[in-house]
Amino acid sequence: MLPMSKTKTRKRTELRPVKIEKFPTQAAGSVLIKQGNTHVLCTASIAAELPRWMAPKRGEEPTKGWVSAEYNMLPASTNDRKRRGPDSRGTEIQRLIGRVLRAAVDMDKMPGLAITCDCDVLQADGGTRTASITGAYVALVQAINHARKEGMIKTNPIIGNVAAVSVGVIDGLPTLDLDYPLDVRAEVDMNVAMNNKGQFIEVQGTGEQGTFSRDELNSLLDLATKGIRQLIRTQNAFLKK
Ligand code: UDP
Repeated sequence: MLPMSKTKTRKRTELRPVKIEKFPTQAAGSVLIKQGNTHVLCTASIAAELPRWMAPKRGEEPTKGWVSAEYNMLPASTNDRKRRGPDSRGTEIQRLIGRVLRAAVDMDKMPGLAITCDCDVLQADGGTRTASITGAYVALVQAINHARKEGMIKTNPIIGNVAAVSVGVIDGLPTLDLDYPLDVRAEVDMNVAMNNKGQFIEVQGTGEQGTFSRDELNSLLDLATKGIRQLIRTQNAFLKK
């Protein structure tokens, strides 16, 4: 059993409690995802203008759209105040989030539209990049539904869900969904992103304090798959409301 608070515990193979909640902003898509004490506001904003590097030549019609992400931790989200402004960790994380979200959409079906998913961490307790992916997918679907209603897109560009979770080895045992105290002492730390067909989109794994065997890698991926299935069910339950 792993401690969650002074009174609550969870199994190593269980996710922390996950909630996806309405959090209205001005953006077309907007949700708050809470995974234990990690809370991330995920929004998706639509612009009818593509990034300059992929904009069509003058007189030509756009044939594709684009999805990208930005990630940020608010100053009060961490124990020591997080200084505002870009940093290399944030840049790496937002590129990961963007890559995974792009695996959820057929960009040929949203010509000329650019959707930016903003992930702002309100509270950080481990797994902020993976919670960002899971929440941003929901905001992205909301934004795409809005674009379809407004006639900006004719056919649904969503291919299927994407979600992500962290796994690790703690005291020699595979463990799902690391919070910060677990992350700090993890022998192996891994972030896994998958789609609803059980296909991997990205796996980032590091032997932080040791090495890991193929068998351990397999059991970590099995655990991540189980967690991601549950996260996808949570996404779909929220989107059905
Ligand atoms: N963290 C922090 N300050 C930072 C970066 C990280 O307090 O500047 C904490 C935070 O709780 C975060 C955890 O360390 O969730 C793990 O950080 P990591 O870089 O592994 O990213 P994450 O697991 O959040 O995606």
